[in-house]
Amino acid sequence: MVRSVTLHRLGIGAVWRLAAKSLVSRHSDRGDLSDASVGARDSSKSRLPTGGELNEAEASVPGSSQVYGAVEVVQQPTGLTNWCDVVATVRSCERCGLARQRTQAVVGVGDENADWLFVGEGPGAEEDLRGEPFVGQAGKLLDAMLAGLGIARGHGVYIANAVKCRPPNNRTPEPDEIEACFPYLQRQIELIRPRVIVALGRPAAQALLKQEIRIGAARGQVFRFGEIPVVVTYHPAYLLRNPADKGKAWADLCFARKTLASSPPKVKETV
Ligand code: URA
Ligand code: SF4
Repeated sequence: MVRSVTLHRLGIGAVWRLAAKSLVSRHSDRGDLSDASVGARDSSKSRLPTGGELNEAEASVPGSSQVYGAVEVVQQPTGLTNWCDVVATVRSCERCGLARQRTQAVVGVGDENADWLFVGEGPGAEEDLRGEPFVGQAGKLLDAMLAGLGIARGHGVYIANAVKCRPPNNRTPEPDEIEACFPYLQRQIELIRPRVIVALGRPAAQALLKQEIRIGAARGQVFRFGEIPVVVTYHPAYLLRNPADKGKAWADLCFARKTLASSPPKVKETV
């Protein structure tokens, strides 16, 4: 019942059961689901589906929980000792050409001590105006996905992007722009110390994992950024264009939740 509410909010409720049946029979990875609606607007009221409800979703994730690729994290001498430094430096940054056309840099939003970190590509038009990541249509879908996991923006989750300034016409950020901006994301990761990172789409995954990634092939695998597990899934904007893949994304999030559950708890920092 709870699961059906969650999936309905993602716009995938009605056909999930059919998909699950075919998955159980032959581990199919085809696009199962078809409803395009974004669903929930008030994500904060949704509850976490309970354990038993995850089985179907997990069945649709290819691969296993073996570690597939680990990025060795090289400390970067950013001089950014705390969040205030990160925020101030990003806001005035001119390390790449994206500085020229931005309204403002979008640092990130959420719980700075979160277990979950979601990483997108870069701000779009609305994000550039409002100064917050994922506030447009794709953001509404992301919020619905978070609600399905029982988390809400600002509580237990931090949301950031691979580049902090809007690429003109929402083009994909160039590799040199991602590289120029990467020390900020890395510092955010070091400060948050998330227990799992979810890369939303190919540019985010490649920024984090420093390798060519195809989301379809990388789903269901645990990569690592240093010690931190990284899982990949489709970008919400892609899902709006390809709603048939929403079920796969939900399965990926369930896989991420399982990955988080086996990730070591945070050690309290002693000051
Ligand atoms: N897409 C992204 O990747 N990030 C945002 O913040 C908004 C849309
Ligand atoms: Fe600086 Fe990143 Fe903005 Fe480029 S995208 S100007 S590196 S904050």
